[in-house]
Amino acid sequence: MGDSTHNPSDTLQRRGLMFILSSPSGAGKTTLSKMLLAKDAEIKLSVSATTRPPRPGEIDGVHYHFVTPERFQAMIDEDDFYEWAEVFGHRYGTPKGMIRAALKEGQDFLFDIDWQGTQQLYQKDQQDVVRVFILPPSIDELHRRLKNRATDSPDVIAARMERARAEISHWDGYDYVIINDDVNLCFAKVCAILEAERMKRARQTGLIPFVRGLMQ
Ligand code: 5GP
Repeated sequence: MGDSTHNPSDTLQRRGLMFILSSPSGAGKTTLSKMLLAKDAEIKLSVSATTRPPRPGEIDGVHYHFVTPERFQAMIDEDDFYEWAEVFGHRYGTPKGMIRAALKEGQDFLFDIDWQGTQQLYQKDQQDVVRVFILPPSIDELHRRLKNRATDSPDVIAARMERARAEISHWDGYDYVIINDDVNLCFAKVCAILEAERMKRARQTGLIPFVRGLMQ
């Protein structure tokens, strides 16, 4: 007799998904991304390239690929990006790299990108994209969270507040919207979405041979 806790759907071949978490900065997206990557071994971060200089603690190749503006332009010219956008005067882009092949092998990717990148990714690859938007519980709370970030100057905070309002206006371009009142509850919702999306019939490419076996 087999292991009674074993679920055959966990071992079936499936297509990976592109899990996009977007939010205005300060709404908790980065915290949620870290929690998800720590908890779930089946998803890995799609590391963007950026011309922005590293913040303290950021590691090249882990948080971003930090590149010069010239290198970024060369990557655009060589069609190396799925999508790219300019944010706060710096360029950010998703390198195609291994993503396409890895999706076929069942690897999931987490994308921490803004609404512009989300739209572009969705236009290129609707079937693999899952779009999740995180909202702050209130604008006052968002401001408080942004002020508590020691790394940014008042000018940068004001620009981020301005941009946050603009970002929030794109909430309706997402499949799922979660209000991040309590980070643990919000995280549980993110995990539930991911689990459900993995079970979508179209993603479970191993179902056809599995069901064929059941019917023999
Ligand atoms: P930060 O400089 O705070 O790391 O990121 C600034 C903004 O750029 C965030 O809203 C983030 O989601 C967005 N961003 C990061 N990487 C990418 C990317 O590859 N493409 C796009 N379109 N936006 C990105």
